[in-house]
Amino acid sequence: MSDRDILVSEVGPRDGLQSIDAILPTEVKNRWIRAQAEAGFAEIEVGSFVPPKVLPQMADTAEVVAAALEVPGLNVAVLVPNLRGAENAIASGAHKISIPFSVSETHSLKNVRRSHAQMFDEVRAIAARVAEIDAGNRPHFEAGLSTAFGCTIEGPVSEDLVVRSAETLMECGVAEVGLSDTTGYANPEQVKRLLRKVQAAVGKEHITGVHLHNTRGLGLANALAAIEEGITTVDSSLGGIGGCPFAPGASGNIVTEDLVFMLEAMGLRTGIDIDKLLAVRTILSEALPDEPLYGFVPDAGLPMGFQETR
Ligand code: ZN
Repeated sequence: MSDRDILVSEVGPRDGLQSIDAILPTEVKNRWIRAQAEAGFAEIEVGSFVPPKVLPQMADTAEVVAAALEVPGLNVAVLVPNLRGAENAIASGAHKISIPFSVSETHSLKNVRRSHAQMFDEVRAIAARVAEIDAGNRPHFEAGLSTAFGCTIEGPVSEDLVVRSAETLMECGVAEVGLSDTTGYANPEQVKRLLRKVQAAVGKEHITGVHLHNTRGLGLANALAAIEEGITTVDSSLGGIGGCPFAPGASGNIVTEDLVFMLEAMGLRTGIDIDKLLAVRTILSEALPDEPLYGFVPDAGLPMGFQETR
């Protein structure tokens, strides 16, 4: 991290692809991940270990992890919904394993058919399994507090419940927690307030990342608010793909290209070469011609003289 101020964690191959119908061939996923690593990305969430029947797009995750592990210096992250997925993730050799914990229990019951109590048991079981692995090979295990800023079923989500959930997840043995704006409901003031509360409860070192959506156009504003509160890892998706967009014309996830531009323009080092990053879009646009790619910077181009000032 010494040569970067902010870690932009690319989630397109997971969050992006899982919410679209098209299945990207394994070879294209591998080419995409390699190209983005070559543009300077130090962490990419490459897939999720879910039953292929549920998400056929993720059926090749073990193969994609294997290929990504060949990329020098890349932190290979995956998502898992449960212990079974975590077993597969551990077997794959992924460096980072994230489990989503929905603070809205209604959302949790509907999405993964598990109550909060059941989810805590699942997280405890995974943490115990991870702890058995010798320290040198042990994956980083974290829990993302999804629907932390509001839920499409329950509406507002209690901030106290977010804080209590974060504390319990830490007690269950995760290395850290993150906040996720699954529904794109967050605003910058809320991001700051909730981050401060969770930081006070679990310690700043145990919450370093946020996963934000751009459903209502506030993705970058929310990311900046999080960074101002000391967050150092921000998730985003190439071309803004995925993240379940509800509003026409709006990207779902934060657009990686725009996020990197904002950070670099502010003098925050990302370690990413923007020209190389913009070139990666071609891989996606050729493989997914029917999928809209978002982003203001890719359309407008970099400001004159921008690269020379780097
Ligand atoms: Zn997402």
